Amino acid sequence: MRHLAKKLFDIVARAGLGKVQGRKYPLGYKGRRLKNALEECEDRFLSLAQLSSDWIWEQDRNFRFVFHEGSIDRTGIEHDNVIGKTRWELPIRNFEADPGLWAAHRAQLEAHQAFNDLEYQIEDAEGATRWYSASGFPLFDGQGNFKGYRGIGKDISARKRAEEALKESEKRLKLALEASRLTLWDYNIDSGIVYLSETWSELLDGAKKVTITTFDALIALAPEEDRPGVIRAFTTTRQESAPAYSIEHRIVTPAGKAIWIINEGQVIERDAAGHARRMIGTIRDITEKKQSEELIWKQANFDVLTGLPNRRLFHDRLDQEIKKMQRAGQLLALLFIDLDRFKDINDTLGHSTGDLLLIEAARRIGECVRASDTVARLGGDEFTVIMPTLADVKRVGELAQTMLKALAAPFLLGSETAYVSASIGIAIFPDDAEGAESLIKHADQAMYAAKEQGRNCFSYFSASMQVVAQERMQLGKDLRVALAGNQLMVYYQPIVYLKTGKIVKAEALLRWRHPTRGMVGPAEFIPLAEELNLIGEIGDWVFKESARKVKEWCSLERDCVQVSVNKSPRQFHAGKTQESWVDYMQEIDLPASCINIEITEGLLLDDHPEIAGKLIKFRDGGVQISLDDFGTGYSAMSYLKKFHIDYLKIDRSFVRDMSSDPGDLAIVEAIIVMAHKLGLKVVAEGVETIGQLDLLSAAGCDYGQGYFFAEPMPPEAFDTLLDNWNPGNKSGC
Ligand code: C2E
Ligand code: MG
Ligand code: MG
Repeated sequence: MRHLAKKLFDIVARAGLGKVQGRKYPLGYKGRRLKNALEECEDRFLSLAQLSSDWIWEQDRNFRFVFHEGSIDRTGIEHDNVIGKTRWELPIRNFEADPGLWAAHRAQLEAHQAFNDLEYQIEDAEGATRWYSASGFPLFDGQGNFKGYRGIGKDISARKRAEEALKESEKRLKLALEASRLTLWDYNIDSGIVYLSETWSELLDGAKKVTITTFDALIALAPEEDRPGVIRAFTTTRQESAPAYSIEHRIVTPAGKAIWIINEGQVIERDAAGHARRMIGTIRDITEKKQSEELIWKQANFDVLTGLPNRRLFHDRLDQEIKKMQRAGQLLALLFIDLDRFKDINDTLGHSTGDLLLIEAARRIGECVRASDTVARLGGDEFTVIMPTLADVKRVGELAQTMLKALAAPFLLGSETAYVSASIGIAIFPDDAEGAESLIKHADQAMYAAKEQGRNCFSYFSASMQVVAQERMQLGKDLRVALAGNQLMVYYQPIVYLKTGKIVKAEALLRWRHPTRGMVGPAEFIPLAEELNLIGEIGDWVFKESARKVKEWCSLERDCVQVSVNKSPRQFHAGKTQESWVDYMQEIDLPASCINIEITEGLLLDDHPEIAGKLIKFRDGGVQISLDDFGTGYSAMSYLKKFHIDYLKIDRSFVRDMSSDPGDLAIVEAIIVMAHKLGLKVVAEGVETIGQLDLLSAAGCDYGQGYFFAEPMPPEAFDTLLDNWNPGNKSGC
């Protein structure tokens, strides 16, 4: 107020009303009127200055404040602290922090230039930071001499805070966008221009900094097959009151890499007619998510080993194809392929080699079929082929034949060569079944029929097969109670020492006296017992039965023959029979030399060290080992030495054809020579004629077994046979 009064006095003085100089000045009428007018003007000026959020200031020619009015209290600086000081003598923070800023302002002042919106920061009386803005213009007297500056100032703290908050939130948004790898886009439909946030360039490998593009260029990044879907999403959303869209599609980066994105957007501006003008949305890279989804889908639907569709996908495809065939009135063939004796390969060559064989078998099957067919692996050694749109049923038979041939070729698996064959079952839709489930069942039955027919062949489904399959199921059920029901029996077949013609051994051969079917042979039910995991229990029973029998022969001082007990690879894998069998012999006080265990060649090829360990346990216990069906398996000779085999049993097939086939005779002779060189004795199986016997004796074969001597028989019959065959000979075990 004081300053304003002084100012007014100055004006009055300048108006020629006399000197002011602090003295009272007598005024005339005119002077009083003028004074009144001035006071009114001052009042108006004052109230405006008070009301205004701005304040007014003046500086002299040395830039010292000489006047400061208005909302001075808002400056946060005492009035007296301002008057007489230059602006740079005030505690202005950002000038202290950035001297260049002040230097620039000062240069402006020195040049007597007007300035606008000089922003500066001051700490107010409470210690809070406030932002102000000042604008000023230079003042000149009548002669053009610089007098100083006049201007306004205003508190811009609120605006600054808002700006800072905005900046902060933009920064946070940017960080959030970067973290979420979200790209924002803004599409002006009229111009066709799309603005993209910076993350877009990163999404495109940062290959090129692209933040502005056209809609067409953006769409062109999607591979051709994805493009229609993307365009459809955009155009549908543009329709009046259409909702936002969300679509997953691929784009190809400039580097040629395909990535998956989720593209979401909506219209945010429409014209009066409802036409879309502007759209905004986001794009996010979901490649990793897609890849893991794909992996999960693959794991759920494909077989890891062979890469073929698994059981799940097979069922899906079969259902689909059947529906299609139903609509089109066409035929479909379903093939069930099972590798014969694959279990032996797994048991003998080890699982990793077995796996290699499966991979190769899958490849061979795949090579035989059309691209439109589905080859699947159901598990283990079971494969299927779905052949839709079948023109000719005969064609399936030809294909099955080609497959059998392909699978019969040798499998070179690392250092091993393995041979397998396959059994194939074929069922035709709709001739053999109404739906997928029964078609699968019937193809499976046809496959079993092929196995029954001797394997390495294919079979079409027929109604009678269903009967066979049901019988098989029934047989399985019956077998579960056979042991407890005393339906199993051990028959004995003599083994004759050829030099003396005496019975010195016998082979224990299992029989099943079925309550309704009569006598069932082991070939029919042993595989079933293995499948149903009954073989361990049954095998132990055969052993104990045989051990008791041979013990009886010993104690009755009959010729104490040695009994051979068959033991399948499955029995070796499960349980600890080697210990329990040896223990049992000790328990009943039976010399271990009275027992011989017949194993098959396959077992010895097993690379599981525990198999060798189990065999050694038997040998250590004094049990002898025979190698059964010699010549039909893998015929790798090295294991004969490695496993200390005692006897080789030449397979029946060689003995059978020996008289007519010089090749077979040569094989038999060679086996005998080789075995003797290795210190092994030889038993010829299936001796049926005197001719065969003569040839075997001439070749130096040690033992003979076969119908020529005697068929397998019940124990009592064997007792009698022994008494009659070897009278008076008490040779001991
Ligand atoms: P294998 O061990 O090779 O037994 C010899 C088979 O040849 C027996 O068949 C026997 O009856 C038959 N045989 C003997 N001499 C002649 C002959 O002169 N001509 C013809 N054509 N055949 C002859 P079987 O009793 O039907 O046994 C079949 C197979 O079942 C056996 O072959 C053996 O591998 C298995 N087996 C038998 N009993 C058991 C057992 O208790 N446990 C296990 N794991 N397998 C057994
Ligand atoms: Mg045998
Ligand atoms: Mg045999």
